[in-house]
Amino acid sequence: MEAGALQALTEKVLAEHTDSDEVTFLGALFDAGLAWVHWPEGEGGLALEPGVQDVIDSTLDAAGRRPNWMRNPMGVGMVGPAIAQCGRPDQRARHLRRIWTAEDIWCQLFSEPGAGSDVATLATRAVRDGEEWIVNGQKVWTSSAHLASFGLLLARTNPDAPKHRGITAFIVDMQAPGVEVRPLRTMSGTAHFNEVYFTDARVPDSQRVGDVDDGWRLALTTLANERVSIGGVVDARGGGEIGALMDVYREGPRSHVQRDAFVRLWIEAEVLRLSKVRAQSLREAGTPGPEGSILKLADSPLTQRIRAFALHLRGAAGTLVPGYDSGDDSHPVLAFLIAQGFSIAGGTPDIQRNIIGERILGLPSEPRSDRDVPWRDIPCGA
Ligand SMILES: Cc1cc2nc3c(=O)[nH]c(=O)nc-3n(C[C@H](O)[C@H](O)[C@H](O)COP(=O)(O)OP(=O)(O)OC[C@H]3O[C@@H](n4cnc5c(N)ncnc54)[C@H](O)[C@@H]3O)c2cc1C
Repeated sequence: MEAGALQALTEKVLAEHTDSDEVTFLGALFDAGLAWVHWPEGEGGLALEPGVQDVIDSTLDAAGRRPNWMRNPMGVGMVGPAIAQCGRPDQRARHLRRIWTAEDIWCQLFSEPGAGSDVATLATRAVRDGEEWIVNGQKVWTSSAHLASFGLLLARTNPDAPKHRGITAFIVDMQAPGVEVRPLRTMSGTAHFNEVYFTDARVPDSQRVGDVDDGWRLALTTLANERVSIGGVVDARGGGEIGALMDVYREGPRSHVQRDAFVRLWIEAEVLRLSKVRAQSLREAGTPGPEGSILKLADSPLTQRIRAFALHLRGAAGTLVPGYDSGDDSHPVLAFLIAQGFSIAGGTPDIQRNIIGERILGLPSEPRSDRDVPWRDIPCGA
């Protein structure tokens, strides 16, 4: 389909849903194949090149629609693509549309107290019991778990296999018995992420995603999409971080120094946006490659600097928070504080540099002493 036709299709859905509520509008986008354009027809896509998604995003942006992933960040940005790629047909039919419309909020249950950057060392156990699995263990930093209907869980199913080969992925009902969510309060005063405890939680085998002990494949798909998703926060068009900064900039008369600083940030954001478009158009398949690490490495510090500058422009008034428990992320000082964690989420800058070094620049990989060692013999395993 030509870019013009895709734009016309997007405008048609927009025109038909000027008065619709958000769920109906998003459902119409999904049904028209405009949700994730590179996926098959009937599953939110039109089986087109991933790069043309920008035509749809630009058209929605011009119409004043906020990016959909903000309503269900884990679901739309990471879990949806993973289920699309690794899920069975019944799992895709049940979950993809509701992820896109944010009728079901999702969380990603990967990190543990002893498994963050090296998530493959995770210790949460899933033991088979007939047609069910019994899950025990603890996850941490689980964004949106307190809001989520479902979580995508990685659990250890074979402790005798090397760490990457004994992991299985499951869809978990977050309201099921044995699943306990405990919020963690951050320095912004809000509780975006949580600890999640599993105590003899039962997960039906029908909710397993992919083959037993093959969960690492799904983990890589999810993490690659996470980097692109987090690496897409800045956007030089109307919306996104730089658009919000523009709104603040226009609030008052500005000095030459402030104008200079603003234009520098704008240029950096535009370069990053174009890099994202180029990375998207280079993608031949649905899963992003290591270029996502470049985007994430550049995006997180730029987002932090944009938000710091917005705070600076507002002066002392910008630091006044309406209440410690306000939970209002749009407030400049809270937005500034929250952005500090963006570099860590989805893999720290060190990890992104390792990926770029090994997979893009072809540098020798880090020495790894645990590659072929059974997970239970690795000292850091629980
Ligand atoms: C805002 C936020 C949201 C999050 N949301 C989620 C979520 O929804 N689900 C989820 O599962 N997780 C989530 N996380 C967790 C996140 O994925 C981890 O924090 C991250 O992977 C780092 O792991 P860690 O905190 O255990 O740090 P560690 O892995 O312990 O790292 C500590 C330090 O060591 C460095 N380091 C580690 N290994 C290497 C290496 N090989 N080479 C060089 N340096 C290295 C790191 O760069 C870091 O500076 C979130 C985190 C944040 C901050």
